[in-house]
Amino acid sequence: MNCNAWFKCIACDEIYPLTEIVYTCQSCGGLLQVQHDMKALQERRGEDWKSLFDQRYMRTSFPYGSGVWGKKEMVCPLVDDENVVSMYEGGSNLFWADRLGKDVGVEDLWVKQCGNSHTGSFKDLGMTVLVSMVKQMISEGIAIPAVACASTGDTSAALAAYCAAADIPSIVLLPKNMITTSQLIQPIANGSLTISLRTDFDGCMRLVKEISQRENIYLANSMNSLRIEGQKTVAIELVQQFNWEVPDWIIIPGGNLGNVSALGKGLLEMRDMGMINRLPRIAVGQAEQANPLYQSYRDNFNSFEPIQAGDTMASAIKIGDPVSRDRAIRTLRAFDGVVEQASESELVNACARADRTGLFTCPHTGVALVALFKLFERGEIKPDDRVVVVSTAHGLKFPDFKVRYHEGTLAEQGIEAPYQNKPVEVEAEYEKVRAAILNSIERHSL
Ligand SMILES: *Cc1c(COP(=O)(O)O)cnc(C)c1O
Ligand SMILES: [Zn+2]
Repeated sequence: MNCNAWFKCIACDEIYPLTEIVYTCQSCGGLLQVQHDMKALQERRGEDWKSLFDQRYMRTSFPYGSGVWGKKEMVCPLVDDENVVSMYEGGSNLFWADRLGKDVGVEDLWVKQCGNSHTGSFKDLGMTVLVSMVKQMISEGIAIPAVACASTGDTSAALAAYCAAADIPSIVLLPKNMITTSQLIQPIANGSLTISLRTDFDGCMRLVKEISQRENIYLANSMNSLRIEGQKTVAIELVQQFNWEVPDWIIIPGGNLGNVSALGKGLLEMRDMGMINRLPRIAVGQAEQANPLYQSYRDNFNSFEPIQAGDTMASAIKIGDPVSRDRAIRTLRAFDGVVEQASESELVNACARADRTGLFTCPHTGVALVALFKLFERGEIKPDDRVVVVSTAHGLKFPDFKVRYHEGTLAEQGIEAPYQNKPVEVEAEYEKVRAAILNSIERHSL
């Protein structure tokens, strides 16, 4: 099978080879996206693709056991296997959220745990493709001195890890005091040049764009559409986990809006390859403090105004001027999409409520859960709909807001904490411990 792919401008259809260092269209400035030779992919029947992907899924033959590279033909066929930089990404738990579902009133609720991954977020799915392509280009003699990104934290962690594994220098630009300690220590531990800047994400973004343009450094941000190719496998994988049945709804948090675009691309390509014959509806959750897509949705996408993002605990989606807004709007139009927003109080309480049922959610997952609750209350999501919430990062990467919630210090920000669970401090004496336990059991049984 002769699979092929190239970059194609989403505005004017101009094309570029994948080995060219180009992020936006040279003739019109539009965003590029990876276009596969669909004719070649359609030579194999949908049924045969599914059984091929099933044979490879979660096995150990390199690199096809990876959730991303198991779908190599439709992800990035131009990378030689020996240049693939993989850490066995994908293959993440599709958590049956039985108790939370019953609590909400949605019986068939699932959480796709993309944070159960090498660096703790879905960013691994895209970064494996980008760094593999860089390794391929270097092996073909193209000079790439380093790879750089601006990040709200998770992208830099993924870039640092994959570059470290491939022995490629990496540079990350982070907004000072706006990311968690765990996120900061990841690129440092992996040996990245870690530059902390007194600005926000949008400010870091402007600088990294200029540096990469002027110094020939390869840019790993999400205008680089190679990452979308890896990220779209979340759609393929979750449908695969349902034995190739399409759910009714997929809910995903959105900041720069690359991930929702990736989700849609994966589903549309599966349909075009005959693997599925219906599409789910897609809902995007945004933090109220960083909600330009929500505002655009309220205006039927007739306008889009970038905003100055306010403070939000969902720090990975604190983005006022999303790069992939056009891609995202196209996706939402194709999937009868909706956008919801979450206040700070709503998102932390959604996390706390979900955690009580056995999850350990990051704040962005909380934003997606708020969208679920609101869409259910409005009657858009029906009690017997099959709903998948995409959890984008591991909760352990974002412990601070949970600590503050349970300590009770969020109350200072006017946030009530009905799910608060305070640690109980008692003297190390038998009777005191016994009293604390009996007291707690009594309260639980009420
Ligand atoms: C990057 C990220 C997002 C947002 O994805 P976009 O593609 O920017 O919309 C959401 N949650 C987490 C944890 C992330 O790291
Ligand atoms: Zn163009």
